[in-house]
Parts: sequence; structure tokens; C-alpha cells
Amino acid sequence: MASGWRKGSSCTPPNVPSMQLGRRQRRSDYSSHADQHRRPRESAIGFIGLGAMGQEMASNLLTKFNSPPISSFVIHDHSPSSVSRFIERHASLGPGFGDVVTATTPAGVARLASTIVTMLPSSAEVEEVYLNPTSGILRGLQDHSSPSASSVGTTATTLCIDSTTLDVTCASSVASQLKKEIPGAEMLDAPVSGGVVGAREGSLTFMCGGTEATFGQAQPVLRAMGKKMIYCGPSGSGLAAKLTNNMLLAVCMMATAEAMLLGQRLGLKADLLAQVINSSTGRCWSSEINNPAPGALLPTKTTPADRGWEGGFASRLMAKDLGLALAAAEAHDEVPLLPLSSHVKELFAALVADKAFANKDFSVIYQWLSQHKK
Ligand code: NAD
Repeated sequence: MASGWRKGSSCTPPNVPSMQLGRRQRRSDYSSHADQHRRPRESAIGFIGLGAMGQEMASNLLTKFNSPPISSFVIHDHSPSSVSRFIERHASLGPGFGDVVTATTPAGVARLASTIVTMLPSSAEVEEVYLNPTSGILRGLQDHSSPSASSVGTTATTLCIDSTTLDVTCASSVASQLKKEIPGAEMLDAPVSGGVVGAREGSLTFMCGGTEATFGQAQPVLRAMGKKMIYCGPSGSGLAAKLTNNMLLAVCMMATAEAMLLGQRLGLKADLLAQVINSSTGRCWSSEINNPAPGALLPTKTTPADRGWEGGFASRLMAKDLGLALAAAEAHDEVPLLPLSSHVKELFAALVADKAFANKDFSVIYQWLSQHKK
């Protein structure tokens, strides 16, 4: 069991420089009975995965959630610098917000918080964080539910919201294992659209899979981080919706890039061509909002293409989502042929194999195509 840290303790919590732990930040994986009365698990929220998206989502959750007020906000990420960044960012929050508590394992988060949001890279990390037999969320819930534990209840009533984009089957399997082992635990797959900007502005769209009751229960948490919550059906349905949307988006972006390149080779200027397409039947989000050709939407809008395709939705994430969508198709009988999507998946896989492109906005497929002439 990881060592705990209490206010006044001489023990500096591992990984986090002591100067960064202000009055409201503590490190603890284990709370004593007395501590739990001061900071009850029922009104504590946990957040695991403080990366590009998670950092912003967690910040909104900590500062906007208020029904009921959060007793403590328990964070975990296996990268110490992500944890430190979050702590530094919120060091000056005044009273009225929950204490920020760090846990060294996901199990530590589960022991301390009855609502847990996870935002991780993909399937392998979600399996690790939820099901690792010694450090996972399930382990923490088992400890908390054990009759010999110092905690009060015998079952860990817990709401887990996973916003990772991952494999549909893996998500459903993790949710059912959690439910089977811990009857009081409920899990929602709630992948998002809106990117880092939407995460920062708290305007994400959540596509949710689980029971309707769990979806209802999750509303106050989701409202602190997003604007639109769509119930898609049973466990895995949120991911099915997310992956099919992104598959369509990739195909539309690829087609827009091809059209913008061909039109310019035929002598049209990028902005004129965009104006024509956006007043005609070829119009789509990729032509109108995130046009892949530099200058196409200027001066009205700037796009990642106008910044050297920096920022936006990374090509490596789009390649991952295409892989997941096609894997979901393969796992099912009687799925229609997906010729366009399959080909676009291969092209994105080739693109991200080149490190110069992998982290750029996925509209960089335009530049990649322009370098691959027939
Ligand atoms: P990221 O790589 O920036 O963040 C992931 C975080 O998880 C990192 O801080 C990492 O240290 C942490 N992590 C990884 N493994 C861990 C483990 N075993 N235990 C604890 N922490 C661990 O990724 P991101 O851009 O924030 O994306 C997160 C998810 O959201 C992905 O599934 C992605 O596809 C999806 N998404 C991203 C965007 C976007 O624009 N970035 C948009 C929509 C959806």
C-alpha cells in the first residue's frame, strides 16, 4: 500500500515538489476513518489522465461542479509532470473548491472518490487503469467494499465515466467486469468531440453508452465539462457513435483535400474554390470550418492549415480512431463493405509513419498528398 501524506507531515510526497503543495493540495492514497468524515468519499471526485484533454476537462470539473460541493478532487496520472502542472495551475483557487489530492495509483483514486472520470490514450491504458490487479480502480473498489476495511459501507457505490476513445468491445468488457465484481459500480462510456479548445471552453459533446439511469446520474459531472450530452444506448454505444463519426470525418477531409488540390492545379485560387464549394453541394465541415488548404478561408477564418497545420486534432489520433472503427467493423458479421474508409485508414497509417506529420492536425493530409504526385 502506498504511503499516505497528511497536512503537517514531514514526509514530502513522492514526485511532487513540496513547494508546489499549497494549503489546498495534499497527497494521499489512503484515508483514515477520521479523514473520511472530513472529506467524505461520496462527495469526492477523481480524475485520471491529465493530458491535453484531461488537463482542461479536470480544470472545468474542479471549478464548475457544485452540486453538491466537492469535498476533495483526487487526481492521478502516471506522468508526474502532468500532475504537477495541474496542481500549479490551481494553487491559487480560493476556499469554496474541493481540496486537490493526488493519488499514486488508480486504486488510490477509487478508495477516495465515488465519482471517477478517466481520459486516457486508448484501450491498453483503460484496461490497465481499471483492471490492474494491484493498482487498478477495481482493486481500489474491492478494498473499499471489503467488510474488513475501515470504511463504513460494504459496497463501493461508484460512478465511472470513461471519456477515452477506445475499442468498443474493450469498453463494454471493462464495464461488465466492474459491474460483476462491484454491484454498486456503474460505468458510462462517454467519448467526446470538440478537441482541446472544446475541452478548455467546457463546450464538449459527450456521446454516452450505458444504462439510462447512469446517463442521468452523470449529468451534473458532464455539464461541468460540456454543452451537449447525447444518450446513444447500452455500454459501448457512445464509442460506436464516436468512431463512426470520426470515420466519416476522415473520409470527408481526404475528399476535401483532393478537391482543393485538384482545383488549384486547374488554376483556381484556394479562397475562390472554398467559396464555391461552401455555397454548393460539396460543402462539409472540412471545407467550411477546417479547410485543409492554407488561405482557403481567410480573411474570415483561420484554420490549422494557416499555422503550418499545428494544433487541432492530431493525425495520430485520427489514424488510431480509423483503426478502431475498422476493427469494430471486422468484429461484426454482416457489416457492409467499407471501401473508402478502409483506403483512407491505410493512407492515414502511412502519413503518421512519418514523424513530421503525426502530431499535426489531420488536415495535413492535404500537404502529404501534395508531396505524393502520380
Ligand atoms: P494525451 O496523450 O495528451 O493524454 C493522455 C494522458 O493519460 C497523459 O497525461 C498520460 O500520461 C496519461 N496516461 C497514459 N497512460 C496512463 C496510465 N496507465 N495511468 C495513468 N495515466 C496514464 O491524450 P489526449 O489528447 O488528452 O486524448 C485523450 C483521449 O481523448 C484519447 O483517447 C483521444 O483519442 C481522445 N480525444 C482527443 C482529442 C484531442 O483533440 N486531443 C479530441 C477528442 C478525443
